Amino acid sequence: MTRPRFNRILLKLSGEALMGQGQFGIDPETVKGLASEIAAAKKDRELCVVVGGGNIFRGIAAAAKGFDRTSADYMGMLATVMNSLALQNALENQGVDTRVQSAIPMAAVSEPYIRRRALRHLEKGRVVLFAAGTGNPYFTTDTAAALRAAEMGCDALFKGTSVDGIYTADPKKVSGAKRYEQLSFHRVLSDDLKIMDAAAVALCRDNNIPIVVFNVRQPGNLAQVLAGKGTATIVQN
Ligand code: UDP
Repeated sequence: MTRPRFNRILLKLSGEALMGQGQFGIDPETVKGLASEIAAAKKDRELCVVVGGGNIFRGIAAAAKGFDRTSADYMGMLATVMNSLALQNALENQGVDTRVQSAIPMAAVSEPYIRRRALRHLEKGRVVLFAAGTGNPYFTTDTAAALRAAEMGCDALFKGTSVDGIYTADPKKVSGAKRYEQLSFHRVLSDDLKIMDAAAVALCRDNNIPIVVFNVRQPGNLAQVLAGKGTATIVQN
């Protein structure tokens, strides 16, 4: 399938993508690998990134163990700032110009989120990392990714996962599971296919932003998928 050319994309990475083989936290080698993927993909397009925080702290899981949900969610958002700084560091080590903008102002470590300034960074060829999710509890970084993709006028949201698309069943459990080449937003929502949370999918649907689900763990895949060659599933209207 030939995919349309995307000039400005938002890449969503879950916090777990930074963990490597570990069970928790940030693995420097893995982050370095991701940074080279991003550096290669960045070459002839504008790119922004939202990283999750699940490798460090997840609000809903902590709330289930007795934490106050709101405080726990703020802690989760702070975890995404740590991940964004780690990725920024790795990108800059590879000569990629970056800015981190945080939805929770944190002047000593990042810029505050200012839409027009973020757009200017993108135009100047910088990778913009959006940290601290939406800045609000009870949301996820998937929703933050959809929101920022809409605000930045992105052509697509690239969702990096550990499988190369959306399947009829979990390919790690069901041997005959088939990968969809394309799916509609409606189908993803009505069949409750759990690629992103429903709020994020609906935001992309309403703003006509295709979601490209691909395997970010496979080296070279992001650039391949961007070039329309790699394996992925595209969700669109
Ligand atoms: N979070 C939040 N509001 C947001 C984004 C994130 O409260 O707008 C919190 C929430 O507690 C979440 C945590 O940050 O569990 C980490 O984000 P997420 O679970 O989306 O990370 P991922 O699964 O992508 O690693």
